[in-house]
Amino acid sequence: MATSSSDSPALLDIAEVSKSFGSVEVLRSVSLKVAKGEVVTVIGPSGSGKTTLLRCVNFLESYDSGSIRIDGREVGFRDGGARQRRSEHDLAAMRAETGMVFQSFNLFPHLTAAGNIMLGLTKVRGKSKSEARAIAEHWLGRVGLAHKADSLPAELSGGQQQRVGIARAVAMEPKILLLDEITSALDPELVGEVLAVVRSLAEDGMTMVMVTHEMAFARDASSRIVFMADGGVSAVGPPKEVLAAETTNERLRSFLARFR
Ligand code: ADP
Repeated sequence: MATSSSDSPALLDIAEVSKSFGSVEVLRSVSLKVAKGEVVTVIGPSGSGKTTLLRCVNFLESYDSGSIRIDGREVGFRDGGARQRRSEHDLAAMRAETGMVFQSFNLFPHLTAAGNIMLGLTKVRGKSKSEARAIAEHWLGRVGLAHKADSLPAELSGGQQQRVGIARAVAMEPKILLLDEITSALDPELVGEVLAVVRSLAEDGMTMVMVTHEMAFARDASSRIVFMADGGVSAVGPPKEVLAAETTNERLRSFLARFR
């Protein structure tokens, strides 16, 4: 796992991205580079812009200025700009550069675990049904759910559903996995099994940007931590630095105090 982005070119390059909802500026010139294989966790108080930032990277949200590049290619879009000039097909292809997993599991309730994973593989990636089934089984095995391939979401626990959600995202072979508070809706006893899956993907070199309130996980599993406050990057660095009790950053200090 890479520990710093300084010595390798950025896989994800967010440069001076700003965004307002009406008169409220929710991202203020946010810059962040993520190298291949890095696991970057984003922490910060509610409303600081963490989710909006991930949504901009995954094309779900436009931004007003700045640029977002994956592998050197602009993937995000500015209002009134790039989006209008791109076909829906291009948009789908670019969105597929990133995989996103949400707090709510968002599985299709009428499809089995395998069926949920196969859908994007057949519809977006053009795989045959049998190829897609084999890939789905591989990833279900990888998240410890080989025996649940034919179960419907309602027959799975929240933790199992979220592991299917992760398998569905990585099966598409995204360059970057975006994880938005993926354990926040889970009962506490189910959080560990989901974080274990994330950790094993990290160990395999998956590049990830993860919004989380799991401080112990952020400390142990991330290459770097980004602390967002008021729409800006207030602190960024290795976990030991950002989570240091003696930080002089007052916003960060008061945020961290809630977890002690
Ligand atoms: P976080 O993930 O850190 O809690 P968000 O990115 O969800 O923060 O939200 C940042 C700010 O943007 C908040 O003030 C929120 O109310 C506002 N916001 C988010 N989405 C919208 C939207 N679609 N319309 C208007 N305001 C929004």
